Amino acid sequence: MSSVESRQSVAIIGTGMAGLITAYILRNDPRARFGVEVFEKQQKLSLDSASLTVKNNSGTEQRVDLPMRAFASGFYDNLRRMYDYLGIQYGSQRFIFPFSTISDTNSNDIYTRFIHSSHIHQFPPLRPQGSSWASWLVEALYLLVCYLWMVICSFFIEPKQGDDSRPSETFHQYVARIRLPQYFVKHYYLPIMSAVTTCPHDALLNFPAIDIVNYQAKTFRKPHYTVIGGVSKVQDKLSKGLNVRYSSAAIKVENVGSKVQLTWKNDESGSTESKLYDHVIMAVTPDVVRAIFPPLRSALSVIPTATVPAYVHRDFDRLAKCSQVVDGGIHPEPGLPPPERIHLCSNSSSTEFTHEHLSSVIITTSPIIPIDPSKIEHTVTFTRTLRTPTSRKVTNEIFGPASQSDGDLKQWRNGDGNVWVVGSWCWDGMVLLEGCIASALRIADRLDIEVPWAS
Ligand SMILES: Cc1cc2nc3c(=O)[nH]c(=O)nc-3n(C[C@H](O)[C@H](O)[C@H](O)COP(=O)(O)OP(=O)(O)OC[C@H]3O[C@@H](n4cnc5c(N)ncnc54)[C@H](O)[C@@H]3O)c2cc1C
Repeated sequence: MSSVESRQSVAIIGTGMAGLITAYILRNDPRARFGVEVFEKQQKLSLDSASLTVKNNSGTEQRVDLPMRAFASGFYDNLRRMYDYLGIQYGSQRFIFPFSTISDTNSNDIYTRFIHSSHIHQFPPLRPQGSSWASWLVEALYLLVCYLWMVICSFFIEPKQGDDSRPSETFHQYVARIRLPQYFVKHYYLPIMSAVTTCPHDALLNFPAIDIVNYQAKTFRKPHYTVIGGVSKVQDKLSKGLNVRYSSAAIKVENVGSKVQLTWKNDESGSTESKLYDHVIMAVTPDVVRAIFPPLRSALSVIPTATVPAYVHRDFDRLAKCSQVVDGGIHPEPGLPPPERIHLCSNSSSTEFTHEHLSSVIITTSPIIPIDPSKIEHTVTFTRTLRTPTSRKVTNEIFGPASQSDGDLKQWRNGDGNVWVVGSWCWDGMVLLEGCIASALRIADRLDIEVPWAS
């Protein structure tokens, strides 16, 4: 199929990682069957839209990715393959995590329990200021035992899968079943997993256990990476030559005859326009899909989303409030950047993350301790999709393989009427970048497109 006229027209809504990967795959179809047009409500591509460039202490400009977009071997196999294919350079990044507890009544009352280094690259572990050798040693041994137990369970005790009569096991039920001590769960496991899911502890406890246990098992002893120079490098590669309509917010997707009609509002002119396509692909969060695509309005109401605020600032006085970390004693490793500190400060219901970026700025996500407003340089808000056993069931009904009982179901399924959904939440797993690529690859498979890095 070579002529442009005979090509199938495709509209993709959203230019986050999922939208850009899907557009790249379709535009690079070896049989050149698709003409792709992309709609983005912002005035720029959204994958890198919240990131910024800052000057570090030596005056050199450095890119700060917002959100962080770290990834690990084991869990992110598709993402790594795509980065390798695109020639994206990424490097291993080590982290130091001071775990502190903040009083619920006084945010100045903070106690640092332990300082963990990723993959225990720092041995012996750093000792928090004010912690005696004896209490530190007892805490370290206790953590080691609890952590090893959690790891063993993640490999050998499978979370209970749900069925039609019973939802899948929650993380809360799983940790109770494997008798993981409450103290460890509350002060260590919930804070570190909250850093991955950026949600309050109650919401995390209600995640399907399978998500967290799988993530734990797949990333065990695997290094974490970040893209060298930031995800703008990925965005540049994926979007080269892309036809994008900026400031164009999709407001309705509907089937009209054998076509799909997309209606959008141009935020600059204020005008509303419609166009028919052969396929429309929504690469947006579930709350947006609900609003623009009536067949999923009811089903997606069970998929929770949360608003996550993040601040880039230079409130260095605040660091001493986040945790009592001893300076020095950090072992540099030849060829690797120095470890970055991420302070995890928790009260009884949530954890805030304060990341000391190597560029010299500080990024605080979901703050509990106040930040000096005069030291804030950049504020951004993200939408995060959460998971529950019920939302997992609905997601699998929409995106999972067709089951025999589907004939009787009224549930709309991905691809019905040539309408598609992709995104980090459109698969059976943690809502992370790997979900973007897994869901895009599913469309490639259904449309019979050969993906160069997947073969
Ligand atoms: C604080 C934080 C930290 C994170 N850290 C990591 C991490 O370290 N590693 C990791 O793997 N994942 C991480 N994630 C998750 C990951 O970044 C996201 O899940 C992923 O980027 C989502 O990509 P997406 O393409 O599915 O959707 P989005 O990035 O949400 O893209 C959709 C885009 O569509 C556009 N849009 C919305 N509505 C419309 C409309 N009506 N019309 C047109 N355009 C529209 C918006 O501009 C939006 O940006 C983090 C998330 C957060 C919030």
